Amino acid sequence: MIERGRVVFAGAAADLGVVASHEDGVESLSGRPIPPEADEEILVDGFLLPGVVDRHVHIALAAPAAVLAGGVTAVRDLGWPPEDVLPLAQASESPSFDGPLIRAVGPMITCRGGYPTGSGWAPPGTGLEVSGAEEAATAAERTLDESGTGVVKVALNAEAGPTLRDDELVAVCDAAHARRAIVTAHAQGAGQVERALGAGVDELAHAPWSEELSDDLLQSLARSMRIVSTLDIHSYGRDTPELRIATDNVRRFLAAGGTVAYGTDLGNGPIPVGIHPGEAWHLHRSGMSVEEVLRAMTFRPLAPGEPGDVVALGGNPMHDLTALGDVRLVLREGRRTS
Ligand SMILES: [Zn+2]
Repeated sequence: MIERGRVVFAGAAADLGVVASHEDGVESLSGRPIPPEADEEILVDGFLLPGVVDRHVHIALAAPAAVLAGGVTAVRDLGWPPEDVLPLAQASESPSFDGPLIRAVGPMITCRGGYPTGSGWAPPGTGLEVSGAEEAATAAERTLDESGTGVVKVALNAEAGPTLRDDELVAVCDAAHARRAIVTAHAQGAGQVERALGAGVDELAHAPWSEELSDDLLQSLARSMRIVSTLDIHSYGRDTPELRIATDNVRRFLAAGGTVAYGTDLGNGPIPVGIHPGEAWHLHRSGMSVEEVLRAMTFRPLAPGEPGDVVALGGNPMHDLTALGDVRLVLREGRRTS
């Protein structure tokens, strides 16, 4: 997972080699041959981590270049007007894009007047209002076709207004599953997580924080859903009742065998841009080992010969997660970023 290694400049412009040093020698992790010693210029000598993926952001509320420079090489945008975010997601596929790879779901499907249509942070078009099961299914299909992400988001926020009816929610889930896509939900308010589970939602976009969930419910959730963490939006480094409830729900969800992915909800309040060591610490405090935290933050291990997303850190996060904030160099698909 973490390799002590070097990033070396391999002579030709923008051609970088990444090497990891092992007991049995040195191997290339970048898919490029490492040149003779004479041509090498060592850029970083540090701890190499696979690129970090943030599975809950609102990228329009942050600078993509800063996100990448902070060690996050891929993001998933969970709610923004499609006409703005989808072209950006497409642009992010280009090697010249100064930012992370962006996948975006487009709008959240909601009911008439439901969250986030009345929320100050959300421009018009962030919520796609539907009425009736048929309209809900059509909206899910269209959104999935447009975004190409295989993920559709629904809003179930009973604290901010009306929510989708059960038949509408089921229609979204059935339409998504028929296309082998998944449904992620913003579930907030009493009973909303149960509703999401009952309808077949696959993921919670936030660790549940508005109520203490029962062990029985968490065991059912652990069998069928993944949770995206976003714990620090409840505290921003402080201790709050919401953080305690969410952390305890995550702790019992993990104990029941559930899967948690790293996500920050970047754009929601003062969440730092790039890797967020505070979110990693929250996951660790919820019961994940350091190695489990790092796995929840990254796509896949660095593989020899693959053009990898690589983050070089000044310190070893296996010893102290705070080192995740000490980003020295970032490569996206084997290329150095600004
Ligand atoms: Zn969000």
